[in-house]
Amino acid sequence: MAKEQPLIIILIGPPGGGKGTQAKQLMATRGLPQVSTGDLLRNQVKARTPLGLKLESLINQGKFPPDQLILEMVAARIKEPDCRKGFILDGFPRNKSQAQTLDKYCKLYRIKPVVLVIDVPDAAIKERLIHRVICEKCHTPYHLKFAPPKQEEICDLCQGHLIKRTDDSENVVSYRLQVYHEQTQPVVEFYRKKGYLTLIDGTLPKEEVYTQIEQAISKTVCPAS
Ligand SMILES: [Zn+2]
Repeated sequence: MAKEQPLIIILIGPPGGGKGTQAKQLMATRGLPQVSTGDLLRNQVKARTPLGLKLESLINQGKFPPDQLILEMVAARIKEPDCRKGFILDGFPRNKSQAQTLDKYCKLYRIKPVVLVIDVPDAAIKERLIHRVICEKCHTPYHLKFAPPKQEEICDLCQGHLIKRTDDSENVVSYRLQVYHEQTQPVVEFYRKKGYLTLIDGTLPKEEVYTQIEQAISKTVCPAS
């Protein structure tokens, strides 16, 4: 038997599309760490490293950190021992140039990444987020139509007050979805052309979404010959 390849999973999905839930399930089941560029950036800023200070001033100016910086950060992170068996990428690659760099890395190590796009129509995302309230105390989410709390405005679990997040308003959700589509389309196209892409139906219950993810992984890692 060939030596086991590290498993690189690239997780792409719209805001509110359940990507976070699926990433957590993957981490638990597969024992892989999640490498999130958002978290890496926040950690640098929080630790006030020289890189963090540079990032902070860029973010304050409303600018995106340059690719080179992101690449260095991701490269350093995936060299850590917990990434030896593989990792789940979240928020990376963000553009075609980042995807090409990752592709060179994968070729060098002869790894075929598993690229998963959690597909949820915009209308369904809006329906989910606009009716969503969360507990102020324990952050449990509720859907006012499909999963309402037993008592209006009160959390079932901790009796905390239920609030609506300001970024769940219709305009903000529309804007975030537009940004998502603009950013991810070139990356999705890049992987589609390579034949690496698997579309996951994200409108199904979360257990079924996860089953599709596992199927996609087995197909990529041990393709039927
Ligand atoms: Zn609560």
